Amino acid sequence: MKSRYWAPLSVLFVCLLLGGCLPSFTGQRPAGGPSKTPAAVPTSPGGVTGQHNAPAPEGTEQYEPEPVPEPEQNEEQALPDKKGENNEQAKQKPAKAVVTKAELIAVGDIMVHMPQLPGAYDSKHKRYRFDHFFKEVKPVLEQGDWSMANLEAPIGGKALGYSGFPRFNAPSEMAEALKKAGFNIVTNANNHALDRGFAGVERTLVHLQKQGLITKGTARSAAEAAKLTIIERQKIKMGLLAYTYGTNGIPLPKNKPYTVSLINENAMISDIAKLRKAGADFITIALHFGIEYETKPNEAQKQLARKLIAAGADIVAGSHPHVVQPFEICEVTAADGTTRRGVIIYSMGNFISNQRGDLKDYGVIFKVAIEKNHTAGRTTIGSVTAIPTWVHRYKLHGLYRYSILPLEQSIAKRSIPAFPSSGYSTLQHQLNRLNKRLHSMSAQPVQLAAQ
Ligand SMILES: [Zn+2]
Repeated sequence: MKSRYWAPLSVLFVCLLLGGCLPSFTGQRPAGGPSKTPAAVPTSPGGVTGQHNAPAPEGTEQYEPEPVPEPEQNEEQALPDKKGENNEQAKQKPAKAVVTKAELIAVGDIMVHMPQLPGAYDSKHKRYRFDHFFKEVKPVLEQGDWSMANLEAPIGGKALGYSGFPRFNAPSEMAEALKKAGFNIVTNANNHALDRGFAGVERTLVHLQKQGLITKGTARSAAEAAKLTIIERQKIKMGLLAYTYGTNGIPLPKNKPYTVSLINENAMISDIAKLRKAGADFITIALHFGIEYETKPNEAQKQLARKLIAAGADIVAGSHPHVVQPFEICEVTAADGTTRRGVIIYSMGNFISNQRGDLKDYGVIFKVAIEKNHTAGRTTIGSVTAIPTWVHRYKLHGLYRYSILPLEQSIAKRSIPAFPSSGYSTLQHQLNRLNKRLHSMSAQPVQLAAQ
């Protein structure tokens, strides 16, 4: 019978806690209604805004919450309390769980190959404009509370000289385009991070952060690399990590081993634990791994990603193969028998690139629903949606133009400019192939034991 008393008591207890802390949320809401602009202002160490958690340890990068609508009040069946019928209030008013919901959106590689540049050059203003790459997917990207991409090229700007494969350097205007497209997080841990050495890393971070984008995976100092990144949206705290398998044989700068975050199982598991301790409700890992152009994850990918989920990560968002690989759902059972869900997408493919053929011009927008029950103090990974995309490349005034299209929607509307009507059946065929591949591993959850 003890548990029957606990529910209303715990509601009261949480209400008291919330009552004491809510002003810190409401006080930070900017006027003017909800906005998708992330408040990318790190609070001072210890300036945690969440309600249940102890202050974050020093060195935690806490990104303050965006303006949030009031938490949804989910009606739950009231359990009789200790005094049963004597408590009139409990009889008339069912106990309510405070629940907030948010959505994570992740996409694959942002590539900048040389053919992508001339058509993006605005000769009148002598600058690049990449906004049109993202115009058609912007309405989707903007829906994400956390919306992240893997930037697979330094954007060191003109000073470093522009270059394509194998050692990239792209115009810094890409940072502005990513921001305008609706992203609020850009990860940089990938094999091209060091293409232009430490200067490239430095300048890339400066340009991205100037746009208010939150970065992860490369760093200019040991302190920056060690900072825990927790980003709060809708009163849910996401811990973020990013790693790459390597840097194309380019060694890490001397005396700066922190420049790019490399895959190291033990270090990753320890990072997950640190984020949990610092109050993260769930943890997302951007993982640059796998074999290029392989359409299925290999054993090493599966082992690593599952190990991270078993160790406490909730979402693994993979990239690098330049083609889409499937996603899978994991069910992790703890020693006490409780379970939680995790999700791994092995590769999200190219989001934008000049690569064509063999589905290299296709990618996926990956959406994961997150829900936090503040009353129970539990965060769950909900539905997973995969939206296939296609990079439409066409010529305008003799120059290549690029546009990322939501594939299904574009086929249904038959609205692609400068595209032959005979091409739609091919697109439909490719969409079917992609969907089949994406969903080929998710029919049954993978059973894991919590580590
Ligand atoms: Zn890569």
